[in-house]
Amino acid sequence: MTDIPKSHPRYASLVARERVTEGVKMGFTSSQGLIAQGRGECFDYLLGERTIPSARAATRAAAALLLLAEHPALSVNGNVAALVAEEMVALADALKIPLEVNLFHRTEERVKKIADLLREKGAKEALGEHPDISVPGLDHARALATRGGIYDSDVVLIPLEDGDRCEALLAMGKKVIAIDLNPLSRTARKATVSIVDNILRAVPHLTEQVRQLSELHRTDLEMIVREYDNEKVLRDAVQEIQDHLERQFKKDTN
Ligand code: ATP
Repeated sequence: MTDIPKSHPRYASLVARERVTEGVKMGFTSSQGLIAQGRGECFDYLLGERTIPSARAATRAAAALLLLAEHPALSVNGNVAALVAEEMVALADALKIPLEVNLFHRTEERVKKIADLLREKGAKEALGEHPDISVPGLDHARALATRGGIYDSDVVLIPLEDGDRCEALLAMGKKVIAIDLNPLSRTARKATVSIVDNILRAVPHLTEQVRQLSELHRTDLEMIVREYDNEKVLRDAVQEIQDHLERQFKKDTN
């Protein structure tokens, strides 16, 4: 990877670009993943490259949902693997559940590479290489799923996912947690809980919340979920973008 000096003002985003590019070179991220990263980076820039308060509230609700679930599931695609493979393994460990490779541009080779990467990073179980069932309402390759994983889950985390699959999973009656920097994406608007934050920051925060909230009683977790309002969280994110742009503009013109 290119040596990026830590003092560079865009250090974090340059490292993320390098990781996704490396994922493409290694063959586990698709070339379309570069474009998805670019779109995410743009929204991160507009948000001020920080975790906004409403994303913290969403992360707390997401942790509560995962802890309340009977069969929680975690989905990993090529960009997720390139950016936070180790952090997803830590989240799966905290919840004591497997990870599942789930690709939009599926090839068996990429699925295997990602599953191998997750195992290399310490995953106890990485599903997805032997799909045995389909999610209704999606075309063949995108529908493939595994019994005992996402297919049978009641709560599923889908970071950086497209709107169609989010809707198909909701239609199966699942609660869906999205991590998506675009508060206007179909996924963010449809999901049960939308964490509008960079996945690089969101996954470690989520694991931390899962660990903290695991001490709580079910009734307290249920209260966190009941009080959560996804529409408000998305409105807050849009407002944060407006406020941030206003501040930047004032700073630059003074
Ligand atoms: P939708 O179908 O939900 O409207 P889309 O067509 O924009 O979304 P894709 O390009 O399939 O979706 O998915 C990429 C999504 O992931 C984008 O909304 C993008 O903002 C988001 N994204 C990309 N990189 C990151 C990242 N590092 N952290 C968080 N979100 C990201």
